[in-house]
Amino acid sequence: MVGSKEKSKEKRDKRLQEISLLRTIPYSDHQRWWTSETVAVVTGANRGIGFEMVRQLAGHGLTVILTSRDENVGVEAAKILQEGGFNVDFHRLDILDSCSIQDFCKWIKEKYGFIDVLINNAGVNYNIGTNNSVEFSHMVISTNYYGTKNIINAMVPLMRHASSGARIVNVTSRLGRLKGRHSKLENEAVRAKLMDVESLTEETVDKTVSEFLIQVEEGTWESGGWPHSFTDYSVSKMAVNAYTRVLAKELSERAEGKKIYANCFCPGWVKTAMTGYAGNISAEDGADTGVWLALLPDQAITGKFFAERREINF
Ligand code: NDP
Repeated sequence: MVGSKEKSKEKRDKRLQEISLLRTIPYSDHQRWWTSETVAVVTGANRGIGFEMVRQLAGHGLTVILTSRDENVGVEAAKILQEGGFNVDFHRLDILDSCSIQDFCKWIKEKYGFIDVLINNAGVNYNIGTNNSVEFSHMVISTNYYGTKNIINAMVPLMRHASSGARIVNVTSRLGRLKGRHSKLENEAVRAKLMDVESLTEETVDKTVSEFLIQVEEGTWESGGWPHSFTDYSVSKMAVNAYTRVLAKELSERAEGKKIYANCFCPGWVKTAMTGYAGNISAEDGADTGVWLALLPDQAITGKFFAERREINF
């Protein structure tokens, strides 16, 4: 008898095969809303999934800004792509440092004037395997949630007004899901608040992460009903998922021609430094859905969660 793990693996492998076929089909002229003047920014792109998203977006003909908090490492990463003929530029960006964000915005304004795509990929996780320490919870929540919000707030005014709409793609995780087979969120009050998209606000999301951090400080988080594995990381991604919905709702009020579409996706379990290279897919495959989402031809889609090029539940 085939177990559920084997079945999931079969399903995943089949979907990945389908996607690799889809990747061989070039975008037609009428689908390509972008040109070589279209500017995409990827955060945390010196390695892993971020680096791959830069490579793939540049491969589709966009101008891509590879950003990294470490200048030397970022310059080297960009050089690899530049030498391969890709239209890639570099600038330092630490999403936790307001001076770095300001400096980046100033540079974008002076050099490009605007951006069309923002991919929020930068993130941290301090647990591997079955470890579940919350020692670095503050750093995890600050980077993954507040850092992502900081850079979005700074970049939205710089997003180009165009009929095709500008795009924000947040890299999150199924670990931050509220419902579903694998969700281990047992805190019903949190689940109800974050699922109620009509009344969901940024303040609600901020309060939820604060509540978690207070419980960490007080040593009571284990009975708080939070996700059981990679708890701080899962809470941070749950927050980014919820914030994506709030953001999409806010941005949908913009006039036609000034729209910005915001979505999030889970790359899967990817062989990168973050997983100690223990994932089951390559960074190339992990990057795919983010790139596909950023380039969607008819992008009236906003406030949704995706994996393997399909919408999934929050
Ligand atoms: P990596 O650890 O390889 O990459 C993370 C990147 O984020 C690095 O470039 C890192 O920079 C950067 N980063 C961390 N903090 C900051 C900061 N303050 N400012 C700017 N950049 C920063 O991991 P992945 O490629 O796997 O992760 C990419 C994204 O995908 C993350 O958001 C992660 O949570 C998400 N994800 C990954 C999964 C996986 O299985 N790998 C699964 C689900 C989601 P530096 O090199 O300097 O540390």
